[in-house]
Amino acid sequence: MDDNLLFEIRNLEKRYKIDVGLFKKEYFYAVNKVSFKVFRNEILGLVGESGSGKSTIGRLILKLIKKTDGDIYYKGKDLYKLTKLEEKKFRKETSIIFQDPRSSLNPRMKIYEILEEPLIVHKIDKKLRRYIIENSIINAGLDTTFLEKYPFELSGGQRQRVAIARAIVLNPDFIVADEPTSALDVSTQLQIINLIKKLKNENSLSVLFITHDLNVVGNISDRLIVLYRGKIMEKGNTTDILNYPLHPYTKLLIASLPVSHPKDRNKKELPKEVFREDIQNSCVFYHRCPYAEDRCKVEPDIKNINGREVYCHFV
Ligand code: SF4
Repeated sequence: MDDNLLFEIRNLEKRYKIDVGLFKKEYFYAVNKVSFKVFRNEILGLVGESGSGKSTIGRLILKLIKKTDGDIYYKGKDLYKLTKLEEKKFRKETSIIFQDPRSSLNPRMKIYEILEEPLIVHKIDKKLRRYIIENSIINAGLDTTFLEKYPFELSGGQRQRVAIARAIVLNPDFIVADEPTSALDVSTQLQIINLIKKLKNENSLSVLFITHDLNVVGNISDRLIVLYRGKIMEKGNTTDILNYPLHPYTKLLIASLPVSHPKDRNKKELPKEVFREDIQNSCVFYHRCPYAEDRCKVEPDIKNINGREVYCHFV
C-alpha cells in the first residue's frame, strides 16, 4: 500500500428510495459511483452547487452516515470492517469543521469545556488536558483568555477558530471542512483559509475542503473535484482545472465568476446554459449542457487526460 494514501474511495453510493406512485419506487442518488483518493498532507477541494452531494460525501467518509454501496478504505483498511479498537483510532484521527459555528458550539459551555469534551471521550489524562487545550487554541490563532469565554461572547471568525481548535485538539490526520467560510465576511474568510493552510503545512494534515465557492477553493486546494448531482464531472490539479476547464459544467461555473475589471468580460468564453428535459440513463448534465448531442443520451465513461479525469463524451 502507498504510505502516502489516506483514503481510497471506490464507487461510493448513497441513494434514497422514493415513492412515485402506488407500488412504484424510484431511487434518488445523493452520491453516485464516486471514486477518489485523499493523500497525506494535501487539501482536496470538493466544489459544487447546493444539493450536489458534497456534504454527503464528507459525512460518508467519516462514517457519520451509512453508505448504500461502494468501498471506503482508510489507511488500507475497509472502513466497514474495522475492529472496535481500529474504529476508536479512526474516530481519534479524523474530525470535522461545520459551516456554522453558532450551531456547532454548545452555547452553555465555556470554550475550555468545548475543547475538553473530545479529550474526555478519548480518555486523555486529565493532567495533560490543559496543556493540549491551550496549544490548540493558540494554534487556531486565539489566546488563552478565550478559554474562559462562552461562544456568544465571540465574533463569527473567533467562533470558527474555536471550531478549528476543537477539530485539531486530538491532533488528527484528516479533517473534513464543510463550508467553513461561507458564514463569514470576506476578510475573515481569508484569515480562516490561511489558518487551515498553515495547519496543513505544520501538522501534515489532510483536509477535504467542501465549498460552493470556486474562488475560495482556488485559494486553498491542491487538487479539486467538481461535483454535479452526486457525480464527479472533473477531477485534477486545481490550477489546471481553473485555468483550463475541460468539462462543460466546470466551464459554466468559471464563466459565472465575477470578473475583476469590466474590460476582462469579453475575454471570458461564456457558454450559454440551456434547459431541456431529463432523460433516463443520459449524462447527468445533459439537461443543462450547452454542448449536448444525441450521443449524450447515453451516459459517458470517465476519461483520463494527462492525469485529469473528465466525465464527458467530447473531451
Ligand atoms: Fe455535455 Fe454531452 Fe459532455 Fe454530458 S457528455 S457534459 S451532455 S457534452
